[in-house]
Amino acid sequence: MENLKIIKTQQPKIKNLTDLGFGKIFTDHMFVMDYTEDKGWHDPRIVPYGSLSVDPSASVLHYGQGVFEGLKAYRNKEGEIQLFRPEANFARLNRSAEKLCIPQFDEELALKYLKALLKMEKDWVPSEPETSLYIRPYIIATEAFLGVNPSQNYKFIIILSPVGAYYPEGFKPVKIMVEEKYVRAVRGGLGEAKTMANYAASLLAGEEAKKKGFSQVLWLDGINQKYVEEVGTMNIFFKIDGEVITPPLLGSILPGITRDSVIKILKSWNIPVKEERISIDEVFQAYKNGKLEEVFGTGTAAVISPVSELVYKGETALVDNYDDESLVTKLYNYLLGIQYGTEEDQFNWVQKL
Ligand SMILES: *Cc1c(COP(=O)(O)O)cnc(C)c1O
Repeated sequence: MENLKIIKTQQPKIKNLTDLGFGKIFTDHMFVMDYTEDKGWHDPRIVPYGSLSVDPSASVLHYGQGVFEGLKAYRNKEGEIQLFRPEANFARLNRSAEKLCIPQFDEELALKYLKALLKMEKDWVPSEPETSLYIRPYIIATEAFLGVNPSQNYKFIIILSPVGAYYPEGFKPVKIMVEEKYVRAVRGGLGEAKTMANYAASLLAGEEAKKKGFSQVLWLDGINQKYVEEVGTMNIFFKIDGEVITPPLLGSILPGITRDSVIKILKSWNIPVKEERISIDEVFQAYKNGKLEEVFGTGTAAVISPVSELVYKGETALVDNYDDESLVTKLYNYLLGIQYGTEEDQFNWVQKL
């Protein structure tokens, strides 16, 4: 930490923390650190937010060698700033890095650097209900070389973006199209890494679904297109006949921290929850039998996102009877309560700045 250099901006931006949306504005400063083979990770610094200078041949621009994370800082009712399981995000960033041949970094140190950056930018954490400061750590390969090899140089960067409430008009169920044509990832591939390639692979399917009036697609497994995987920015859960089921982490699914938190909360509430493969046919069979009670996605951005409609091979499963007694509502309120400090943090998930 002693070697963390700080260069303050001479032109602080005018903060307008209303009508934020998602990921559109960025704070005054960012964190940057470099990697070279001889020095390892070095020169950690907080500098004014601004353009990067990378060589046009930098490997990330050609071969996509890069990984990222997404987490949030929340302002509690005392005005303090708190993080939700940030150590899990840095652990996952290192696991993603390993899959992409990116060198490991010191997770504890990275968290200290993040906290130092947040302390400088604390006035950028909005205070309106359900707003937050979105944190985007990422690592990119910067070696100037067109050969297909793991890069010898990298940059580790953290940028911050104040974001609005995900549901400005209240908790709103989404319509999802089950993807029959495209696949996102296969076992043995990059599906479990938070890497840019997975998002590139999902754009076309997402656009086609949006044209048909859906907000996202539900991916099926890449081999048989039979088993449910995830939504692409969210993991998926089904409540069937009183039991909650979510696909297991077999390598092609992103191991969501919200997913893990939801499983732990359900267990603590004594609600049966299992991580098991479930085929899309089983989901529709449960619907036809009147046993599909709830469907929801989990992820940092939306926290919990109820699904009202699933469409597959021309059939529609409608699950639109969500109310205050629904599991989705209880999970949403409880998780947000922990994140914003209005619920007791019984799992020790919160770290204050
Ligand atoms: C980030 C992400 C999620 C959600 O993970 P959280 O840790 O809960 O935010 C789910 N699926 C994919 C593909 C992701 O990239």
